[in-house]
Amino acid sequence: MSFDVLIVGGAAVGSAAAYFLCASPDFQGRVCVLEQDPSYARSATALSVASIRHQFSTPENIRLSQFGSEFIRHIDQHLAVDGEVPALQFNERGYLFMATPPGLEVLRSNHSTQRELGADVCWLEPQELAQRYPWLRTDDLAAATWGCTGEGWLDAYALLQGFRRRALALGATYRQARVTQLLRQGNRVKGVQLADGEELAAGLVINAAGIGATALARSAGIELPIESRKRSVFFVTSNAQLPNCPMVIDPSGAYFRPEGEGFICGIAPPPHEDPACEEFEVQHRLFDESLWPLLAQRVPGFEALRVKRSWAGHYDMNTLDHNAILGPHPHVDGILFANGFSGHGLQHSPGVGRALAEWVIWGESRSINLRALGFERVLAQRPLREVNVV
Ligand SMILES: Cc1cc2nc3c(=O)[nH]c(=O)nc-3n(C[C@H](O)[C@H](O)[C@H](O)COP(=O)(O)OP(=O)(O)OC[C@H]3O[C@@H](n4cnc5c(N)ncnc54)[C@H](O)[C@@H]3O)c2cc1C
Repeated sequence: MSFDVLIVGGAAVGSAAAYFLCASPDFQGRVCVLEQDPSYARSATALSVASIRHQFSTPENIRLSQFGSEFIRHIDQHLAVDGEVPALQFNERGYLFMATPPGLEVLRSNHSTQRELGADVCWLEPQELAQRYPWLRTDDLAAATWGCTGEGWLDAYALLQGFRRRALALGATYRQARVTQLLRQGNRVKGVQLADGEELAAGLVINAAGIGATALARSAGIELPIESRKRSVFFVTSNAQLPNCPMVIDPSGAYFRPEGEGFICGIAPPPHEDPACEEFEVQHRLFDESLWPLLAQRVPGFEALRVKRSWAGHYDMNTLDHNAILGPHPHVDGILFANGFSGHGLQHSPGVGRALAEWVIWGESRSINLRALGFERVLAQRPLREVNVV
């Protein structure tokens, strides 16, 4: 059996690509999405904190997020099927990035890049911060930036299902199958082999396999600098009242935001306790010894907290520069990459899905110039470092 485009991985990024391809009047081909687990139970998409921000340090990430929030705001114009609109519940309450004096220059430089690109991010001096958020301890802070519009959180699973349903309605095929190998002949990928041995030919294969991307690429002799890194998330309740609470990013890296009747929070483990790993055991010690003390220091009301639920998922961490690797390979034809999102791929799924469709149709990403995120930098070992990784 043969397809024009085979997409390996049908979560947010793979399904976004399928949708944008099938929705384009310039594309008439046959698209098949191969997904090993249609429950998506272990996908990063389903396990994510589902938040979107314009506060990045690199123009490409800022532009991808700006498109992401526009897309999400107008979801009814894009993903409605038979009049049914995905219930994304976009909660546009912003991110608050805070800096102590040593972090002030980085905050200032990021803010200036964001403003130049039209991001609606405002600068808050400590006294403005204290006024706006009386529940926050601000005496050690030098400044903060807050995304007034376009930033917030949503239902990630609803976005994924929205892309999938609309792609199906537009003619994409979804098939439950695990891809074990990319089939390569010379310098061209010609298709894939499935776990049951069946081979599928394709004009183009898109690697949207999340943490499965590295093994998939390796099966065609291509090395990706991407490792699976576990991140634990805790849902807590508290009696503290935090009016206007945005997604708060503490200078320590700890984060929290409202969720239903409580809050979602987390922190990355220290580098020496952050090996490549694929199991899902929640790091409770991280909460007790590191996260909770940091939260209680920042918000005195968090001295009393109760963990109600917790889970762990995996970042597809690009160890070169914490940025996605997007688009074609300079020496191997027939394959496009959309991997290594390092914790910010959900918000970029609309922009990356559109870019992948443009690469398929025109051979270039036209709407946003994403050359800087291409494979060339990996081969040249020339990192495009994202400073704002949460
Ligand atoms: C705890 C946590 C919090 C996060 N918070 C945020 C956030 O707030 N904002 C944000 O933007 N991003 C966040 N992220 C990152 C975001 O979730 C991911 O970057 C994004 O969902 C990546 O989507 P994806 O489709 O590339 O990968 P995934 O969602 O991982 O999907 C990959 C899919 O490929 C399938 N697959 C893999 N290998 C194969 C194979 N060989 N054959 C067939 N199918 C295969 C898998 O079953 C899976 O469904 C978070 C991630 C985690 C873990």
